[in-house]
Parts: sequence; C-alpha cells; structure tokens
Amino acid sequence: MKYLQVRGGQKLHLVMEAGEETPAGDIIRRGYISNPLCNRPMGDIIRMTINLPLANACKNCQRVYRAWQRRQDGE
Ligand SMILES: [Zn+2]
Repeated sequence: MKYLQVRGGQKLHLVMEAGEETPAGDIIRRGYISNPLCNRPMGDIIRMTINLPLANACKNCQRVYRAWQRRQDGE
C-alpha cells in the first residue's frame, strides 16, 4: 500500500502496489498501482509517499481500506 497525493488535493489517497490484491479482488500487475481506494480519478498525480499515519489519508480511502482489512482478518 502506498499513499498518493493528487494535484490540488490536500488529502493523501491510498493505493495498492504491484502484487497486492485490491479490495475488489484484482492483483495489481508489476509496474502498476491501483486506482485510489475511494475511486478518485488518478489524472494529476504529483507524488507518492509512504510511512505516514493512516489518519492523514482521505477518509473514503480509509473506510475502504479498513473494511478490506477486516475481511482479510476474518479469513
Ligand atoms: Zn481517497
């Protein structure tokens, strides 16, 4: 998982990295990242960063991510 910042946006969005499974069940291909979990369009990416608290991320992305984690834990 990475954090993605979109141009003009204050919030960081969550994306899945190559080899990871998205909440929708797709595996991300090598060299690619997923769309933001909240489905915000990816048009104007300005940078990616990691190692930030989840609390700084977009609320919609957090909600999707947490629901997905709960499903994983339940398996
Ligand atoms: Zn988002």
